[in-house]
Amino acid sequence: MVNSSGSIQYLWFPVTPFEQNCSLIWCSVTNEAVIVDPGGSSPELEKKITELNLSIKAIWLTHGHWDHAGAGKYYADKYNIEILGPHIEDTFLFESLPEQAARFGLSSETEAYLPSKWLKEGDSVEIGKLKFDVLHCPGHTPGHIVFIEKTQGKAWVGDVLFNGSIGRTDFPRGNTADLLSSIKNKLLPLGDDIEFYPGHGSSSTFGREKRYNPFLK
Ligand SMILES: [Zn+2]
Ligand SMILES: [Zn+2]
Repeated sequence: MVNSSGSIQYLWFPVTPFEQNCSLIWCSVTNEAVIVDPGGSSPELEKKITELNLSIKAIWLTHGHWDHAGAGKYYADKYNIEILGPHIEDTFLFESLPEQAARFGLSSETEAYLPSKWLKEGDSVEIGKLKFDVLHCPGHTPGHIVFIEKTQGKAWVGDVLFNGSIGRTDFPRGNTADLLSSIKNKLLPLGDDIEFYPGHGSSSTFGREKRYNPFLK
């Protein structure tokens, strides 16, 4: 539904062998768009941008893992746009992007880079008429952030929370207590009806996870 304040439109493009959900999000009123978590490049994504005549304004990153950030620089250069996020605590992951890719046996040409701007709790970012709040949700990585649009109840949560599961904490600087605190104290209180889009797998709602997610019991 299109209204004067703009409605959130989005499409998912699975990238990398991990089928990471790279998102294209745009404002229905202005056709301005962002790419969230381009872990790898996607010809389908680029085709859609042209087809829909979208104006790409920025890249948003939830965290510095290779499957989410690997093609950030590629798209920043291609569309001449800035890379926003994650939180500065993920610096070490950006510095090690080539090593992360190599660890998965991928002789990718992923290069190390740093985002144009780090984000922190309380920041907000915009796409056309849409405004997303930034929440710092450490645990899966220390600098993981989440993007949430409260008026339409939609959140992009990266690898913090999944449909029926939670993010891994066995990677460098992962912390299970921090992750559970991020989910229980920051995300779930925002409301049962909020629909979230994770980095892997299908979408769900905070209310559904509160009730059925075995890791949150
Ligand atoms: Zn991750
Ligand atoms: Zn991931």
